[in-house]
Amino acid sequence: MRDHDFTKILGWPGYRVYQYEINEEAKTLRLWVRRKRGNRKFECSGCGRQVADYQDGGEREVRDLPWGELRTTVVVEIYRVRCPDCGWKVEKVPQLPSKAPFSKRFEEAVGLACEGAAARQVARQFGLADSTVRAIDQRYLERWAAERRKPALKQMGVDEIYVGKKTKFLTVVSNLEAGEPLWFGEGRKQEVLDEFFQTQLRAGQRRRIEAACVDMWEAFTNSIHQYAPQCRIVYDKFHVLQHANQAIDEVRRTEFFRKGGRAREVVKGKRWLLLTRWVNLDTGKKDNLTPCLPSIAA
Ligand SMILES: [Zn+2]
Repeated sequence: MRDHDFTKILGWPGYRVYQYEINEEAKTLRLWVRRKRGNRKFECSGCGRQVADYQDGGEREVRDLPWGELRTTVVVEIYRVRCPDCGWKVEKVPQLPSKAPFSKRFEEAVGLACEGAAARQVARQFGLADSTVRAIDQRYLERWAAERRKPALKQMGVDEIYVGKKTKFLTVVSNLEAGEPLWFGEGRKQEVLDEFFQTQLRAGQRRRIEAACVDMWEAFTNSIHQYAPQCRIVYDKFHVLQHANQAIDEVRRTEFFRKGGRAREVVKGKRWLLLTRWVNLDTGKKDNLTPCLPSIAA
C-alpha cells in the first residue's frame, strides 16, 4: 500500500500521510502526517484570522479513530503563526480542537457514545479513564452548543433556584418555546439579570422578546423593564398563588391580634394554629379558630 492510499483512508482534508508504522503485536498503528503541498492557508488559533507569517512548530501526537483492530495514533506537523492581533500563536488545525491528545473526530465518537451510556461504560469501551471521558464529553458539548443555530428568544423564562447555603441562589434564564435553559447567573439581584441582557443579547435580540414569565421578584421585573421595555410580563400561576396565600396568612394574623382580649382567649395555647395555612387545617381545628375570625373563615 502506498502513502497515497493511507492518506485516502485517513481522510483529513488538506493533510497527507508520509510515514507509518504498524505494530502487529501491540495492535497499534502510527501515522505521520503533514500538510499537502499547496495547502498553505494558515489560521491563528487565538482568533481564527488568516495569517501569512508562519514557521515550523514541531509535532503533536493525538489518538484518532481505530483502523480495524489497530489503535491509531496520528503525529501531525504543526506550525506557529504570527497574528497581528494575538502575536505568535499555534496555528489552528481543524482536527486538533483542544490541547488534549485526541483528534476532533475521536472526541466526537466518545461524545456520541456518552449520549447513550454512562461515562464509566464509555471509558471501558474506549480504554480511557472516567475523568478523561467526562472532559472529552464536556468539550464535545461545548463545541456542539457553539456551532448549532440557537432558536430566537421570544418567550423568556426567568426563575431563581436555591442551590444551598454557600451560593444560595442562581438566576436561570430559559427559552420557554424551545424548553431549554440558556444562561445561569450567580445570585438573584437585578444586576445578575442585567448581566444576561448585556452579555448574551444584542439590542435587536432584546427587542424581539415578546413575553417574559417571571416569579414576582421585583429585581427581575426591574431589569426586564430596563432592557426589554416592549416585553410583556407574565406571572406564573404558582407564584401568584404563593403570594396570595402569604397575603391571606398575613391578614389572618393581623386580624387575630387586632381582635384582642376576648377573641384571643378562645385560641389561647393554640398559637401554632394561626401560623398554619387555613387550607391545611382539618375541620376541628378550623372550628377552634372560627369564633375569633368570622370574616376570614367564611
Ligand atoms: Zn489571532
